[in-house]
Amino acid sequence: MLTPDTLIAALDAIRSKQVSSAELVRKALDRIHRLDGHLHAFNSVFSDRALQLAKEVDAGTRTGPLAGVPIALKDNICTSFGLTTCSSHMLANFRAPYDATVVRKLEAAGAIIVGKTNLDEFAMGSSTENSAFGPTLNPWDTSRVPGGSSGGSAAALAAGMCCAAIGSDTGGSIRQPASFCGLVGLKPTYGRVSRYGLVAYASSLDQIGPFGRTCADVALMMNVLAGHDELDSTSVPGDVPDHLAELEKPVEKLRIGVVKEYLHTAGIDPQVSVAIANALDVYRAQGAEIIEVSLPHAEYAIAAYYVIAPCEASSNLARYDGVHFGHRTKQPVKDIVELFSKSRAEGFGDEVQRRIMIGTYALSSGHYDAYYVRALKMRALIRRDFDEAFKQCDVIVCPTSPIPAFKVGEKSGDPLQMYLTDVFTVTANIAAIPGLNVPCGLTDSAKPLPVGMQLLGPVFSEPKLLRIARMYEKATEWHKQRATL
Ligand code: GLN
Repeated sequence: MLTPDTLIAALDAIRSKQVSSAELVRKALDRIHRLDGHLHAFNSVFSDRALQLAKEVDAGTRTGPLAGVPIALKDNICTSFGLTTCSSHMLANFRAPYDATVVRKLEAAGAIIVGKTNLDEFAMGSSTENSAFGPTLNPWDTSRVPGGSSGGSAAALAAGMCCAAIGSDTGGSIRQPASFCGLVGLKPTYGRVSRYGLVAYASSLDQIGPFGRTCADVALMMNVLAGHDELDSTSVPGDVPDHLAELEKPVEKLRIGVVKEYLHTAGIDPQVSVAIANALDVYRAQGAEIIEVSLPHAEYAIAAYYVIAPCEASSNLARYDGVHFGHRTKQPVKDIVELFSKSRAEGFGDEVQRRIMIGTYALSSGHYDAYYVRALKMRALIRRDFDEAFKQCDVIVCPTSPIPAFKVGEKSGDPLQMYLTDVFTVTANIAAIPGLNVPCGLTDSAKPLPVGMQLLGPVFSEPKLLRIARMYEKATEWHKQRATL
């Protein structure tokens, strides 16, 4: 294992000179070189650059709150160094001309980006099997998926190849892989973290956020990542709270909402239900009140999401035509239209093409009102449901995923089955609220698999969500479990 493997312990060790940044980064790179041929968490690794930056930290010329720690970055976030592929043939050779705001912030804080991680092509998927470069495997059981679309970031952290990682979450892509890999993962409030330099999938839903091993690690990452950015017009102005300052302070008179409709959701694995019930007991023992709340429109969330997201994707991905951006066909073409269509047919994988077609259809005149406008109406209703629920409780607790990590290949032939696994995560993106995954159990299988609990709160409640999660973490040992590779 990488030791120390939590972000805060690694930073302490570097500061107290128990370990140098160069040693820690070298250890992370060694693990990548030893294990990643099999796991495939990374699309690219920046060994020389990372070691060079680590030496600057050790020499005292690079400082900051994350100075010297190895971090992994999802490969749909632009860097001025290396490639930004989105795990697509379309962008297999794309070099971004600039750094995303989060990259700038991480590097200004002294973090060392060791590499860029695999994802479902253009972040469309829940298993990382839609990568054009092959799937990532789950470090807990390599016959299983790590979740997705930020599966590479989650696997890299769970495998001890970095001390924290960055993902993006449009419908669960941070929280669900965090739950499959036994990590803490946060989708912040829409607008909390700048998306400048994130390759757009569905712009009204996309957020960037951190993976960590503990609530404190995620809180520290948020302190670095969050804040207004004039380069992202959807980023929210105003001060950012210190996510670490009150982390250890329990929330008094805590009221936890349990969603009535979720108790009857089909297809929840019994081991997931038991883990969540046990977690509620842990909170009860700390004096929390458990209240039943209702999200009457939650059952329409998947349908609304899988209209809105493809609609926005079909528009966002129009730029990849072999002229403006992306792969250009080498076949002979008779005109520009054929150039576009051949380039796009060659460059995009099946799932991306499926979404572009669904989105284009749903936005076409004659169908627009029946699909897109209806989905937006549903979105308004789901938002209202959450507003009502949060009048009665501080936080909603539910599973992150109805099932633990599934087998590679188990759902890749059946898109609908894959979409249904997002049932508990897409609502947070629809409602723009923050969602946090916390490890809350292990299955009893021969190779135990992590189970994750999701905490949902009102907009900008991240510091409180983390405090509530920390109450649980303090009382349990799940966050100390590690994949054995
Ligand atoms: N699984 C969802 C989808 O395929 C969410 C992906 C994401 O959050 N990027 O769209």
